[in-house]
Amino acid sequence: MNADCLFCKIAAKQIPSKIIYEDPDVFAFEDISPQAPTHILLCPRKHFVSLDDATPEDQAVIGKLHLVAAHLARERNLLAGYRTVFNNGAGAGQSVSHLHLHLLGGRQFRWPPG
Ligand code: AMP
Ligand code: ZN
Repeated sequence: MNADCLFCKIAAKQIPSKIIYEDPDVFAFEDISPQAPTHILLCPRKHFVSLDDATPEDQAVIGKLHLVAAHLARERNLLAGYRTVFNNGAGAGQSVSHLHLHLLGGRQFRWPPG
């Protein structure tokens, strides 16, 4: 855990959030400022900033984030489709320095993203 990290504090339940999934490797919670009817953030418990900081030992958890996202999308009945996004670095819009996969669904998405 990184004592200065918002998402580490959410994992440790030091900051309130709507956690909807937890296991020994990952946790997921509702985004506080949803950009779609479903907007969930999925994080590894291990603190690292972005894909740019990931090491080979993080390979399994990065894959697992996607499988848990698919599980949650099925649970939420996102039959029309959903989007999963990592923002890596400020230039891509990353604002919290703990890797997180956005799961967005429940509306039509455009491509390319903004
Ligand atoms: P990003 O801009 O890709 O780093 O995404 C960070 C996300 O964290 C944004 O969608 C924010 O709305 C969300 N966020 C920030 N603070 C909180 C919080 N306390 N609880 C839940 N989501 C948060
Ligand atoms: Zn963290």
